[in-house]
Amino acid sequence: MSQSRVWHPFTQHALEPAIPEIVLTEGAYLQRADGSRILDAISSWWVVTHGHRHPRIMKAIETTTSALDQIIFAGFTHQPAERLARALAGLAPPGLDWVFYSDSGSTSVEVALKMALGYFRNIGASRSRIVAMEHSYHGDTIGTMSVGARSVFNAAYEPFLFEVDTIPFPAAGREQETLDRFEAISRDGRAAALIVEPLVLGAGGMLMYPAWVLSELKKITEASGTLLIADEVMTGWGRTGTMFACEQASISPDILCTSKGLTGGAIPLAATLATDAIFQAHYSTDRKKTFFHSSSYTANPIACAAALANVEIWSDEPVAERIAALSAMQAAGVRRFHDNPYFTDSRVTGTIAALDLRTGTVGYLAEIGPKLRAFFLERGLLVRPLGNVLYLLPPYCITGEELDGLYDAIEEAGERFGSRP
Ligand SMILES: *Cc1c(COP(=O)(O)O)cnc(C)c1O
Repeated sequence: MSQSRVWHPFTQHALEPAIPEIVLTEGAYLQRADGSRILDAISSWWVVTHGHRHPRIMKAIETTTSALDQIIFAGFTHQPAERLARALAGLAPPGLDWVFYSDSGSTSVEVALKMALGYFRNIGASRSRIVAMEHSYHGDTIGTMSVGARSVFNAAYEPFLFEVDTIPFPAAGREQETLDRFEAISRDGRAAALIVEPLVLGAGGMLMYPAWVLSELKKITEASGTLLIADEVMTGWGRTGTMFACEQASISPDILCTSKGLTGGAIPLAATLATDAIFQAHYSTDRKKTFFHSSSYTANPIACAAALANVEIWSDEPVAERIAALSAMQAAGVRRFHDNPYFTDSRVTGTIAALDLRTGTVGYLAEIGPKLRAFFLERGLLVRPLGNVLYLLPPYCITGEELDGLYDAIEEAGERFGSRP
């Protein structure tokens, strides 16, 4: 075979062994050319919700292609986009009445930031600072890196990143510090928006915080006139146990970003939902107040149809029950590790379980990450630790038996690679 010309994401090609080729996906599995199967315990980077190639989503894609491909979305519309927007406004926390389409999680966050800044400019207020949470991840574009944690991932681009105010992660027992800091920051009236990943900070290490903190943060945004942006790109579509994580805090953000699970993980699509107040601030006979944003593939009809099929699956199939069952299994799974000397901080929020392996070295670049990844792959398991943080974020079709096998492998990994306190 001739040499590959593909430059892979987040991949150090000088260190990466041969990259497996996948020829078939089905349910919770990826299949290699030689027929061997890999259990996808991270939903192919958090996108696949029900399982790979859900027949209904595949069918919707097929059907739509007989009539539509991409069409310009400025000045034109189509039924898949119209129907999906109504569905999303109905499913999201109340008050998020307007749906702006784009094509990736990062873009949906860029759109959210632009909406927030545009809102204040259009109403004639001089708020232009963004407040972000320590350890956050919101994407890999310049704007989203700016509102995310500064680290080795973005060190080279630091000169391009804009300054933000940061509130500490609300670690257990230190939640009040987070709230106090945000209150202090919001007092000067310069903050346009607070952006958070509700309940679970994904790429930052599957860090979890309780819903009441999110409710309190929302109260401070209301009291100070700051907008709240909920980045539900990872947490949406049932991951945390509810359709959106914000529901557990009984709050409605001013802006909500969704992408990964929006099409069930089949094809790229993103949406940024906003309140009527934000839409109205851009609604004017003055063209300068237009929301100036578009992606070429905005509201791709095939992607919208896939997302609609996903929405229908949620209403026609017992998805909530599956999620509840998976959440219970995950809770039982991490319970096995409470007394395991090789792990700390075993934690679970809905269908997401995580635990930290005790090792000499920590951090994403610690050699342990790739070693663990290889260890699991040898066993036919796709587990991709964030440094020493092991997590399982599986598609909802995974069985109890498969999950048990994963926890057995994690136990074995602890004995092999972990150190005792
Ligand atoms: C993955 C992720 C993003 C970025 O989404 P992409 O589709 O990879 O651009 C943004 N925010 C959160 C919370 C994410 O997990």
